[in-house]
Amino acid sequence: GGNKMNLKDYIASIPDYPSKGIVFRDISPLMADGEAYRAATKQIVDYAQEKEIDMVVGPEARGFIVGCPVAFELGVGFAPVRKPGKLPRKTISVSYDLEYGSDTLTLHEDAIKPGQKVLICDDLLATGGTIKATIELVEKLGGVVVGCAFLIELQDLHGRDKIEGYDMLTLMEY
Ligand code: IMP
Repeated sequence: GGNKMNLKDYIASIPDYPSKGIVFRDISPLMADGEAYRAATKQIVDYAQEKEIDMVVGPEARGFIVGCPVAFELGVGFAPVRKPGKLPRKTISVSYDLEYGSDTLTLHEDAIKPGQKVLICDDLLATGGTIKATIELVEKLGGVVVGCAFLIELQDLHGRDKIEGYDMLTLMEY
């Protein structure tokens, strides 16, 4: 167990999902295995340990799955980033371009206090649109993004280039 386990053994790859030509990387087998889920969480916690994190932020929905156990283990809070209309109080929002159209993400306006050090967690880095919008939300509130942690990076999509200058951790690369 522990660090010796190969986390990729717990990722399912689904061809042509959600559309033809896309290989979807599914983390649900990893989440379903207590030891693998714990090992992945521990690697992110170890990465975050010296960063004096004040808050963990994660975009819905798999960012919650990755970020919440990390926040719990660090003993800090977690703030959810959500699609419009899901958060009940006053929010700020950021829109970003997709291949066709655009998307918007929101965050409660009191979720982060100015100067707080934030770790952003998500399951997967693809084009980087989601992480870039999430960083913008945190920075709008005066938060300082001190790290971004992902279980998976899809290297061909160059999401990493969109967040140059930010410290990041990825546990698996495809
Ligand atoms: P990006 O904004 O293009 O970087 O896409 C990343 C977001 O889309 C993350 O929130 C992921 O949960 C989701 N996503 C994109 N591709 C996949 C995939 O193959 N598996 C799981 N999630 C994905």
